Amino acid sequence: MTAFICTTCGTQYPPSDASPAHCIICEEERQYVPATGQSWITPERLAARHANTFRQHEPGLIGIGSVPTFGIGQRAILVVTPAGNVLWDCISLLDDATIAVIKGLGGLKAIAISHPHFYTAMVDWSRAFDCPIHLHAADRQWVMRPDKAIAFWDGDTFALLPGVTLIRGGGHFPGGTMLHWAQGANDRGALLSADIATVTPDRKFLSFMRSYPNLIPLSAREVEGIAASVAPFQFDAIYGHFFDRVIATGAEEVLAKSVKRYLAAIAGTARGPTE
Ligand SMILES: [Zn+2]
Repeated sequence: MTAFICTTCGTQYPPSDASPAHCIICEEERQYVPATGQSWITPERLAARHANTFRQHEPGLIGIGSVPTFGIGQRAILVVTPAGNVLWDCISLLDDATIAVIKGLGGLKAIAISHPHFYTAMVDWSRAFDCPIHLHAADRQWVMRPDKAIAFWDGDTFALLPGVTLIRGGGHFPGGTMLHWAQGANDRGALLSADIATVTPDRKFLSFMRSYPNLIPLSAREVEGIAASVAPFQFDAIYGHFFDRVIATGAEEVLAKSVKRYLAAIAGTARGPTE
């Protein structure tokens, strides 16, 4: 029995003798099955072909991503706090070196994940570190490998640890979640936004989509909802879902101008009335 992993989205399915017939995540409109067809990999083969790399974004925030990249290519973030460590988002590869490094930093108190595309191998991670997985209940239908370690939270915010708050922004998924760390960015606050609010490649703006690969935009109401969800929180930095998608300072202003630009674009007023 092997817990197979989809090579396109990185989602792990329950242990089975043969690979699953379909990836439900990739067949849904926010993802895609590639032209070459559905394919699967075992955790053992994944570990033979890839390794995890670590990059410290700032003291207490350590990015963890696979090289070469696998699946969607996101990196997770280890949030190191005096009350315990949180793994924010998740990746498919959990190798022995990663377990040793994280245990050396104090292990994990909890795992929290922004949305179903990053659920990946969360159950393997949870078992390695004997910790719960916190997911928003609105996305529970997208859990492909159910486990007793999964704890669903409901509502708009969830106080995970002192200074660490999960915020439901919705949008990309109804339960789309961001993590606020009050002690981040030298106590000015850090928002770990995943792709609920996506840092664009120029690192000057954020954008917001229902589907990134299939280019399905969100409505004005949904984007205003994301902005409203984080309005009560102070933050100077925003960390997106890739290593290089970071807004190091002035992030509240970046969010405000990004929402304004997005709303103007979908209203048809972005380039002036004569154009
Ligand atoms: Zn998939």
